[in-house]
Amino acid sequence: MKAKERMTIPRQPVVEMAPAERIKSFDEVVSGFDYETAVKEANRCLQCKKPGCIQACPIHNDIPRFIRLLREGKIEEAYWADRETTSLPAVCSRVCPHEFQCEGSCVRGKKGEPVAIGMLERFLVDWMVANNKDIMTPCAVMKNRKVAIIGSGPAGMTTAYYLAHEGYSCTIFESLPVLGGMLTVGIPAYRLPRDIVAAEFDALKNCGVEIHTNVTIGRDKTISELKEEGFEAIFIGVGAHNSRKLGIEGEDLDGVMQGVDYLRRVNIGEDLNLGQNVVVVGGGNVAIDVARTALRTGSDKVFILYRRSRKEMPAAAAEIHHLEEEGVRIETLATPVKIHGEDNRISQVECIRMKLGECDASGRCRPIPIDGSNFMIQADAIISAISQNIDHKADKGIDIKLTKWGTYDVDPVTLRTSVEWIFAAGDAVAGPQTVAKAVAGAKTASESIARFLEGKDLRAGREPESC
Ligand SMILES: Cc1cc2nc3c(=O)[nH]c(=O)nc-3n(C[C@H](O)[C@H](O)[C@H](O)COP(=O)(O)OP(=O)(O)OC[C@H]3O[C@@H](n4cnc5c(N)ncnc54)[C@H](O)[C@@H]3O)c2cc1C
Repeated sequence: MKAKERMTIPRQPVVEMAPAERIKSFDEVVSGFDYETAVKEANRCLQCKKPGCIQACPIHNDIPRFIRLLREGKIEEAYWADRETTSLPAVCSRVCPHEFQCEGSCVRGKKGEPVAIGMLERFLVDWMVANNKDIMTPCAVMKNRKVAIIGSGPAGMTTAYYLAHEGYSCTIFESLPVLGGMLTVGIPAYRLPRDIVAAEFDALKNCGVEIHTNVTIGRDKTISELKEEGFEAIFIGVGAHNSRKLGIEGEDLDGVMQGVDYLRRVNIGEDLNLGQNVVVVGGGNVAIDVARTALRTGSDKVFILYRRSRKEMPAAAAEIHHLEEEGVRIETLATPVKIHGEDNRISQVECIRMKLGECDASGRCRPIPIDGSNFMIQADAIISAISQNIDHKADKGIDIKLTKWGTYDVDPVTLRTSVEWIFAAGDAVAGPQTVAKAVAGAKTASESIARFLEGKDLRAGREPESC
């Protein structure tokens, strides 16, 4: 979707916690639909003959079908229609950037409000849980064929989910003390409550998936050792956890941090107050989550600096709206050029104003600094949230092909790496993306792993993976 086509105002009949209340806690901000609201919203779906929403969903959920069942009052059937294609409905319904995916393609949105597809999917899961219904597919009988999964984010979870349900014996190795990857150490709990992620792991364990935390592959154990231990295939889902630095003077001062490092520390439970004035650099989800988390850990004045204009911010419109409601100021068309300090600690951030130059085909325009427009912002901390790279500890000692971006180079149809028995998906392959794309990629990789273990043709009858 082109930047200028994005929605700029929040919509949908949602109930939210008041801003003054919510910045004091990590409780979920947005409440789910009640039955009447869900059915009313479901009735807005036009049941298109060629549904753009299915195509725009990276997982290709059959959205019109579950909406049709929902409005007929067949909630359980609707839930299972959705569950046929997705491993993580409770998560995706809450955090997917719907406006750029399914809802962005809804024909209702062309002349008004798109159908609130994310909220409807969430309603189905919440209803099942509230009514004590079983939300997990029954487990399979184990085949004693071992697969090792490196990383417990949505890519690793999805691979374990599909392979365990085929009866393969899966073991997840996770370097952190907590499970869920960015679902737990990135996305804050006020957007994705932790019991939802925990329930997914309970279900995986219930189906025989073994899970080891605090094990870093490449440090505590290598991939070659896993192979020697009898794991016949390996899945790499290590995500993108190395923050990119700003590359400006003063980045070694105290009070300078990286976005995902800061969020990881807070999410693991560290009591971390950044001080009164905080500057966050970036315009995507990570920047918004850092700014809103800083408020919740006690900072007063939080600024976001973004080098392009507001309509080009990659973050979802609802997130930007929540951020501003909570009192964060967005300074667009500005970027930091130097971090000033006293006694080895940050004191001010020197910034420069930008203007937009020529635009590319997607509508994104090049930011150009305006000479002599420098200005200062008082700061106790500056956090860069401009992107992340892949950490390659996991493939230590293995000769595996990488792309020029440092991601794993995989076959686009099978997601097999250059090593026959190693597969990869998620941010480790696509760079920092979305949960739904990690799920979609991992579904493809798990199908390939199953075919590989059964000695079948990996490519037969399949299309290239777009995620
Ligand atoms: C702050 C933030 C907000 C986001 N918001 C959204 C959002 O609203 N919507 C959305 O769709 N997406 C969002 N994303 C992106 C989304 O979370 C990621 O695209 C997704 O989690 C990628 O899944 P993954 O499984 O590939 O990797 P990850 O979730 O990163 O999981 C990788 C796991 O591998 C582990 N690991 C790494 N190396 C090793 C090793 N050597 N040995 C063992 N374990 C290892 C890591 O500790 C981690 O737990 C956000 C990301 C961040 C950081």
